[in-house]
Amino acid sequence: MRKLTREEKFMRAAIKTAKRGLKEGEVPIGAVVVYEDKIISRGYNRRAKLQLASAHAEMMAIDKACKKFHSWRLPEGCELFVTLEPCPMCMGASLNARVAKIYFGAYEQKGRSLTNELAEANLLNHKTEVFGGVLEGECSSLLTEFFSSMRRKAKEEKEQAKREQEEELLKKAERI
Ligand SMILES: [Zn+2]
Repeated sequence: MRKLTREEKFMRAAIKTAKRGLKEGEVPIGAVVVYEDKIISRGYNRRAKLQLASAHAEMMAIDKACKKFHSWRLPEGCELFVTLEPCPMCMGASLNARVAKIYFGAYEQKGRSLTNELAEANLLNHKTEVFGGVLEGECSSLLTEFFSSMRRKAKEEKEQAKREQEEELLKKAERI
């Protein structure tokens, strides 16, 4: 097997973090913040658990990194690795925290993500470079497997409910 590139190595760490969310029944999305070639914080999607619209993997990782540096402005050269293309909120947080580079894995499928527009907007007098498709296959299969298992589960539950209903009707009919 070929050796992983530096970017792939950090994306693997983000994938590993995403799997922690998977265990908690969350949509598996993971992120890590890297500074001087070291992971300084990790975050995974916890929207369901915390019932917070802002509990995205990137937000969790950026918040932790800011806490670590006691500063909303991250030191120069910080990089964010995330398994799914960031949404506008997370792009905004990355710009606000002055993240230098963003690497994402899977491309967002639903609608327009505005990633490139926001990266190039020069908001806050800061630009962030964005690179998509790092370990794209692994990152997107993590999501598609999660959603197909959710659909399977929902189908099984529906079938189970139908069976129970039929048994109930049968019992009623026997009593008559
Ligand atoms: Zn987001």
